[in-house]
Amino acid sequence: MASVETVQGPVDASELGVTLAHEHVRFRDEAVAAQWPQRYDEQDEFTAALAAVAAAKTCGVQSIVDPTAMFGGRDVHFMRRVAEQSGVKLIACTGIYSYDYLPHYFANRDVDAMAEHFIADIRDGIQGTDIKAAFLKCAADAAGVTENVEKIHRAVARASLATGAPIMAHSMPAVATGPRQVEIFKEEGVDMARVQIAHCGDTDDLAYIESLIEHGVYVGLDRYGLEVFLSIDRRNATAAELLRRGHAERLMISQDFCASIDWYPPEFAEVAEAGGMVRNWSMTLVFDEVVPALREAGAMDDAAFHTVFVENPARWLTA
Ligand SMILES: [Zn+2]
Repeated sequence: MASVETVQGPVDASELGVTLAHEHVRFRDEAVAAQWPQRYDEQDEFTAALAAVAAAKTCGVQSIVDPTAMFGGRDVHFMRRVAEQSGVKLIACTGIYSYDYLPHYFANRDVDAMAEHFIADIRDGIQGTDIKAAFLKCAADAAGVTENVEKIHRAVARASLATGAPIMAHSMPAVATGPRQVEIFKEEGVDMARVQIAHCGDTDDLAYIESLIEHGVYVGLDRYGLEVFLSIDRRNATAAELLRRGHAERLMISQDFCASIDWYPPEFAEVAEAGGMVRNWSMTLVFDEVVPALREAGAMDDAAFHTVFVENPARWLTA
């Protein structure tokens, strides 16, 4: 099997083992963090990241795909510290996480210039290190595929074509961004086996999810615990049916957990749990509740578990 770049260096894809396809060791606004660093406690963030990753490791997790891109505070120095102390392989990306906004820097440069930045992260390394990006990230959300979002998607697609790196696209099923995202990648000539459409599990509209799978892309059932978008029970019913219909080879199951996140004041965490917006959101929820429920429902045997958590991430990363 081909090798995969991790923050600890390249490894053979067969060494990735049980892999969580979508988690964040830290998520924060890099502009705010750069301007008001005293508002952040890096030691607390590190402790939270290490605790989350160590907990996942006790569930057998050997590798974690962390799609934190520009605007999510990507920091491969931080990621490498977490990876080295936990012994879990972390896989970093390049790309831009924006629902529309682009800084003037990229607004006034064309798609190919943007793609060159991504390509450099993949070929040369990220943030002055020798840590290379293993995949590309872009996003479309409530605003839909805006002009700026389309530009990022095309740059990501061209960087994928130039390097062979796979793509993960954040999507929003509630406004059906997935089909247009796939269409853009196809227009650019990207191999659909390299594409993962994240957050498809936020809907239980099976026809919508299957319409994406038909293109040959991977779909992320990757926000377990974020009840605000869909409950664990309804996510499980969807996952079970997709497995029964023979789609195991296209599914990524994960939590999109952020070991720390600055989107809300600290006291909001309790409000969110009490208000039912999140439930047991963590880096272990899929092993604590989801896999047991899918096994109980007769939808996931050992072979399907191996397909989803071992083979799919490795196959996507080496497509
Ligand atoms: Zn995410």
